[in-house]
Amino acid sequence: MKIAGKVEVEDLPRICPLLSRRTNPRYGEAQTRVVQVGRVRFGGERPVVIAGPCAVESREQTLEVARAVKGSGADMLRGGAYKPRTSPHDFQGLGLAGLKILREAADETGLPVVTEVMDPRLVEQVAEYADMLQIGSRNMQNYPLLVEAARSGKPVLLKRGMAASLCEWLGAAEYIANEGSLEIVLCERGIKAYPSGEYSRYSLDLNVLTAVRAETFLPVIVDPSHATGVTAMVEPASRAAIEFGSQGLIIEVASDRLDAATPRCDAAQAISPRALRRIIHFIETRQEYIAEKAHVA
Ligand code: PEP
Ligand code: MN
Repeated sequence: MKIAGKVEVEDLPRICPLLSRRTNPRYGEAQTRVVQVGRVRFGGERPVVIAGPCAVESREQTLEVARAVKGSGADMLRGGAYKPRTSPHDFQGLGLAGLKILREAADETGLPVVTEVMDPRLVEQVAEYADMLQIGSRNMQNYPLLVEAARSGKPVLLKRGMAASLCEWLGAAEYIANEGSLEIVLCERGIKAYPSGEYSRYSLDLNVLTAVRAETFLPVIVDPSHATGVTAMVEPASRAAIEFGSQGLIIEVASDRLDAATPRCDAAQAISPRALRRIIHFIETRQEYIAEKAHVA
């Protein structure tokens, strides 16, 4: 039986000829094309750690968390100025004011900043303040948005749709490549599975990392915060992702000062700057171990 629109991994060279390894043999079987954001190199020598608040809630909160994640050793800052919320009655983000705060925090700490853009009409505005544009899970297949983001000239962090197949995800990335930009970093952020929501927010699909790395030369990172939705799961999920070949992590962090306000968004998955430090320490010691092993061999 033929099914209209059905695609399989074998079809990737046709769906995304600009990004498939099979149609770009110069990248061989394992090489990643490095995507650079300032001094940060995705797909380079070591995994990249992006950290920051879920949402920009105030100047004080954002500067505090930015300084804290810098102190923990993060490479890049995250934070939402435009938030995709389930209800229109929930906090939607500070918008332009939030972008200005993010820029200030990025300049002060020297960390490049990634932030989400949801509306093609706002790409130019967000690109003026951000070093990298995030396309969120809910917008992975918003093709006009992908095209606008590509045309901005900024690198794009393309999150996987929460129910997207590998072919749909890479097909979405191809829309960016088709505008002439290969500055794309993929991000696995958990998918909807039957029990999702029962004991975790989504299901972290680490298996897909192996497939992504086999099928394309784009770097791929993991968001353990949205994938689990549970603070206690973020650290082990981060370590597991690195073991699975993730080339980076994007993690939500909140202040652990006793008098700090609880985040208005995703508080139950935020980790402390100290926990972030432990994750980065894990990455660093693992890197040293790999280097030592290579030296001995
Ligand atoms: C986010 O990173 O702020 C976010 C909303 O993530 P996602 O699009 O993966 O849900
Ligand atoms: Mn969040």
